[in-house]
Formats: sequence, structure tokens, C-alpha cells
Amino acid sequence: MLVNAYGAHAGDQPLEPLQITRRAPGAHDVQIDIAFCGICHSDLHQVRAEWYGTQFPCVPGHEIVGRVAAVGAHVDGFRPGDLVGIGCIVDSCKHCADCEDGLENYCDGMIGTYNFPTPDAPGWTLGGYSQQIVVHERYVLRIRHPEEQLAAVAPLLCAGITTYSPLRHWNVGPGKKVGVVGIGGLGHMGIKLAHALGAHVVAFTTSDSKREAALQLGADEVVVSRNAEEMAAHAKSFDLILNTVAAPHDLDAFLVLLKRDGNMTLVGAPATPHASPNVFNLIMKRRTLAGSMIGGIAETQEMLDFCAEHGIVSDIELVRADQINESYERMLKGDVKYRFVIDNATLAG
Ligand code: NAP
Ligand code: ZN
Repeated sequence: MLVNAYGAHAGDQPLEPLQITRRAPGAHDVQIDIAFCGICHSDLHQVRAEWYGTQFPCVPGHEIVGRVAAVGAHVDGFRPGDLVGIGCIVDSCKHCADCEDGLENYCDGMIGTYNFPTPDAPGWTLGGYSQQIVVHERYVLRIRHPEEQLAAVAPLLCAGITTYSPLRHWNVGPGKKVGVVGIGGLGHMGIKLAHALGAHVVAFTTSDSKREAALQLGADEVVVSRNAEEMAAHAKSFDLILNTVAAPHDLDAFLVLLKRDGNMTLVGAPATPHASPNVFNLIMKRRTLAGSMIGGIAETQEMLDFCAEHGIVSDIELVRADQINESYERMLKGDVKYRFVIDNATLAG
């Protein structure tokens, strides 16, 4: 079936309207009418070929929410009309140790929502900047937020789970001091979630103008990272620093803020590497530097339910499909509070 979408034909070309084919739902598939799709910085990295291996045409989008339109004969868990979400994963091998542990995000056969191999035309997956998507039921998430919040739920499917998973992995809760670096799409969710988990939250930003807003989001303190004195006041004090910055920067400036056995987890994925940190900043206090990639399906459902229970959604600016290119430019300037979400109804006609 042909559906309208928005994508690019080359890394140096703007995104434009195009038509793509979706497969007819198989026995275990769920066919979804997409209502909204968030704009993640990863979409920009991939569609502009900043990351390796982009296939064109490229249709990004992995913060997808909508309603079930139809289900295959063997689907029990979902019915037409259900509110559902699709995040960054649309398939995996389903039998390796990672899949069995519910960590499909670390399966070597994980198929991402866009730019991964698939038998479907054109041979690679095409994402949520489109009217519909068809996905195996295992990777479909249930949304329990009120329907009026649906657009603001979309960013939870990537920005939410990517920050929730390391916060949980490193046991964030009451009595823990947590830093969140970069107040963008991921960072603003990291602040809300760490706060809801009961931690003392410090937001690090390069933008003086975000100081007040970070407090509103749930930060207990805000540090403008360009200010050496403000940084020094937090030396050797953090249990965890969650670093969401999308560009290479000095990691040592943050490592020295970790206490003994503290950890900094990198979730930002810049197109070029960070300079290696000074090893002494790790060995002196047995500090660790880690990475984390999105989260598994079960943990994504746990995060969605946690957010529904605590009334947590993303702070969004709703845009039309024909504003996507402009939204990318504004995201690069940090001019978004804090996530653009596409109204997919604007793809019609
Ligand atoms: P975003 O909305 O653009 O936010 C990134 C924030 O980083 C900016 O708002 C800015 O915050 C800060 N920043 C940007 N450039 C900077 C620089 N040169 N120096 C210092 N700070 C800078 O992006 P996002 O959607 O949150 O994504 C962030 C990164 O995470 C991207 O690289 C994305 O690809 C990656 N990502 C990774 C995963 C994963 O699974 N690990 C999942 C999704 C996304 P301030 O203005 O507050 O400084
Ligand atoms: Zn993303």
C-alpha cells in the first residue's frame, strides 16, 4: 500500500514529500495510522549522512504514536483503535541471549525503525515521517496516557527510554546526586525522569537562557558549564552524570565532578569522536565511563507506564511536515523547548 511520507534523496538535500510502500500486515503484524512523530537529533545525523551508511531515500522518525488500524490473524494483544507507540526497534532475532533478556536493543540482529535492512521495499526500513507503519506485535508499545497528551507522549519512545534506561541501570533514586548534561530533547526528559525517581538533579547547560527553564523541568540546581567556578563547586560529588550532548566536547570537565565509583554514561552520539579523556581522571577515584543505547521493549513499556502514572510527558512544539527542514536548523541552534513533534495529519493530500 502506498502512503505519503517525508524524506530525503541525498545527505545534502532537504527533506521533501514522497510516497513509500508499506507491506500488508502479516499474521503477527500491527498496522498503525501514525498521528504524531517526534524529531530526534539522530534523525538529522542519519538523514544528513553524518553517521555512516545512510541509504536513500531516507525517511527518518522513531518516536511514533498513533492508533491501530488493523491487526494480523495471530495478534492477540492489540485491537483496531488502540493507542500505541513504536520506538527505535521494529525487529530483532528474537532468540539470542539479549532478546531473551528483553534487551532487543543490544541484539546483533536488531532492526532499527529506519535505515536497517528489511525484505520490504526498498530494502531498508523507513520511519515515522509517514502516514502509516506496519510492525511485528512484539515491538508495539501500549500507551496509557490520556489521548489529549498523545503528541507529547511521542518523544518518550526515544528521548524517554534513552534516558530512563541508564538512570535505572545505575540505580538512580533518593539520596543519589545525578547530573544531566545538555538540555535538549533527551536532556529535558533526563531531568524530568531523574527528578521523578527521587534523585537530586543538577542540569548542565551551555545556554544561560535555559537556567530558569531547567528548574521548571525539575532540576534542583543548574550549572552553566562554560563557567569554571560553577563547575568547580560540584567537584567529586556526583553518583551519575548522564551526558546527552550531540557534539564532541571535553569529557574531563565532567569526569572530575564524579565522586569515588561515580559513573558518566554517554548517550549523545556525535558524528566525530570526543578527544580521549585523561586516564588519571578515571583511575584516581575508580570512576567509570559508559555508554547506553535506547532500551529494550519491556523497559520501554515500563517507562511509558511510569510516565503515565506520574503525569510525565515531553515539552513539545508541534510542527507541520513542511516545517521539518526548518525544525532541523532550529534544533542545531538549540532553539527548541524541547522537542519538535510532527503532526502527521499534515502529510495527507
Ligand atoms: P538535541 O535536542 O539537539 O539536544 C542536544 C543538546 O546538547 C543541546 O540542546 C545542547 O544543550 C547540547 N549541545 C549541543 N551542542 C553542544 C556543544 N557543541 N557543546 C555542548 N553542548 C552542546 O539532541 P537530542 O535529540 O537530545 O539528541 C542528543 C544526542 O543523543 C544526539 O547525538 C543523538 O543522536 C543521540 N541519541 C542517542 C541515543 C542512544 O540510544 N544513545 C538515542 C537518541 C539520541 P544546552 O543548550 O543545554 O547546552
Ligand atoms: Zn532518537
